[in-house]
Amino acid sequence: MPTHISPCSRRAVVIGGSVAGLFIGNFLQRSGWEVGIYERSRESLATRGLGIASHGELEELLIAAGARVPSPLGIEVTGRCAVDRHGEIIARYDYPQQLASWTSVFRSLSAAFAHEKYRNGWELAGIDLGEERSTAHFTNGEAIEADLIVGADGFRSSVRAVLAPHIQPRYGGYVAWRAAIKESDLSNDFRAETASQFCFCFPKASEFIGYPVPGDDGSAELGRRRYNCLWYYPVAPGAELTDLLTDAEGVVHQYSIPPHLVRPEHIERLQADARAKLPKKFLEPFFAAGRYLVQPIYDVESERIGFGNVALIGDAGFVARPHVGVGVLKAGQDAFALAQCLEREASVAEALACYDTERLAEGRASVAAGRRLGAFIERGLDGPWADPELGLRVEDIIRVSGRPVIRSDAIVGAPMNRSG
Ligand SMILES: Cc1cc2nc3c(=O)[nH]c(=O)nc-3n(C[C@H](O)[C@H](O)[C@H](O)COP(=O)(O)OP(=O)(O)OC[C@H]3O[C@@H](n4cnc5c(N)ncnc54)[C@H](O)[C@@H]3O)c2cc1C
Repeated sequence: MPTHISPCSRRAVVIGGSVAGLFIGNFLQRSGWEVGIYERSRESLATRGLGIASHGELEELLIAAGARVPSPLGIEVTGRCAVDRHGEIIARYDYPQQLASWTSVFRSLSAAFAHEKYRNGWELAGIDLGEERSTAHFTNGEAIEADLIVGADGFRSSVRAVLAPHIQPRYGGYVAWRAAIKESDLSNDFRAETASQFCFCFPKASEFIGYPVPGDDGSAELGRRRYNCLWYYPVAPGAELTDLLTDAEGVVHQYSIPPHLVRPEHIERLQADARAKLPKKFLEPFFAAGRYLVQPIYDVESERIGFGNVALIGDAGFVARPHVGVGVLKAGQDAFALAQCLEREASVAEALACYDTERLAEGRASVAAGRRLGAFIERGLDGPWADPELGLRVEDIIRVSGRPVIRSDAIVGAPMNRSG
C-alpha cells in the first residue's frame, strides 16, 4: 500500500545543499513539509561557482521558490558572435540574455531557506530503503527516517549509488579550463569590445567561450564585473587524463583537481597552446587570470529518477555537458516538477512515478544535445564543420548553446542545418 501524504507526516530529507537541494528544500518548505538539507561540505558553497548562462525560466523558478531574485540577476548581453583565429567575426546571432553568477543564484536560494534546517558537514553514508519510509544514515552516526529522501548530491551521487549503482558518469574526452578575471584587471579596449557579447571561437578540436559575468559582490557595473573564460580542451581518457589530475606529490585526484594543485607543466602547456591558437584579443584575459580551474567533462544518463520514496534531482539524475548551459535551470525544473507531483498525487510513490515520467525525456534530451554539441571535440575534429554529418555549423552552435533544450527544436536528433 502506498504511503498517503498527510500534512502532518510529511518529512523530507534532502541530500546535498547546492542549487538542486536548495530549490527542492524551498519548494517543500513552502508547501508545508518538514524538510532538512544535509550537505557534505563543511564550508559554505557560496563562493564555489563561476558564471552561468541564465534564462527567463530561471527567474520564474526562483520566484516560485520564494527566493528574492538578485537585481540584476546578471549582465545583459545583446547576442552571440563567433570569431576566427584572427579575431574577425564569422557569425552573429542576436539573442538578448542575462549572464549570471552561480553564487548569486545560490545565495538567493540559501537566504530563502530556514537557516537552522540546513546542515553543513553531514555526509550520507547509506540508505535503508523501506516501503513506507526510508532512513538516511550519515557518516557522523546519525540516522533520519523520512517519508521522502531526495538525492540532490550531484553527478557522483551517493543516493544514485544505492538505487542504480550501474549508472556512472561517462567522460567526454575533454576538459573545461575555466578562469574568471576582474574587469578592473583588463584594458578599457578589451572591456569596450566584449562588454555586451557572448563570444565563441573554435581553435583546432576545441571551443573557447568568453563572456562577462557579475563581480564577486554581484555587481553588474562595467569595471566591477568579471570576465569568464571557458576553454573546452581535448584530454584523452586514461593516462593523459590521469596525468592531468595528478598533483606534484603523485596523488591522483579522481574527478577534479583543486587549481593550486595542477602541476605547472600543464599550465605552461595550456598557455603555450593559447599563444599558438587563440585569437589575440582573448590572450589578455586568459593570461591575466594566471590561475585556472580544470573540470573534466562528464555526462550522466539515468534510466529512472523516481524510486518509491527516493528521488534524484539535478546533476544526480542527469548531467548534460555544459555546452547546453542548463544545469542550474534543470535543477530548478526537476525540483519544481517533483514538488508539483507531490502536491497533486495522493501518495509519495505515485508522486515519484509521476515525476519520473515527466522529467526523464527532458533529461535525456539535454544529455543528447550536450553530446552532440561536443562531438567534434570528443572526436578530435578540426572544427564543428569538419563532419557535415554532425550538422553543426558555427551559426547553429552559437544559436543553440547556453539555452534550454526545446525538444521540438532541431538540436535533438536531426542535423541543425536550417537557419534560425
Ligand atoms: C564547465 C562547466 C560549466 C557550467 N556552466 C553552466 C551554465 O552556464 N549554466 C548552468 O546552468 N549550469 C552550468 N554548469 C552546471 C552546473 O554547475 C550544475 O549543473 C549545477 O551546479 C548542479 O547542481 P546540483 O545541485 O544538482 O549539483 P552540485 O552543484 O554538484 O551539488 C551537489 C552537492 O551535493 C553534495 N554531496 C555530494 N555527495 C554528498 C553526500 N554523500 N552527502 C551529502 N552531500 C553530498 C556536494 O558537496 C554538493 O554540494 C556548468 C558545469 C560545468 C562543469
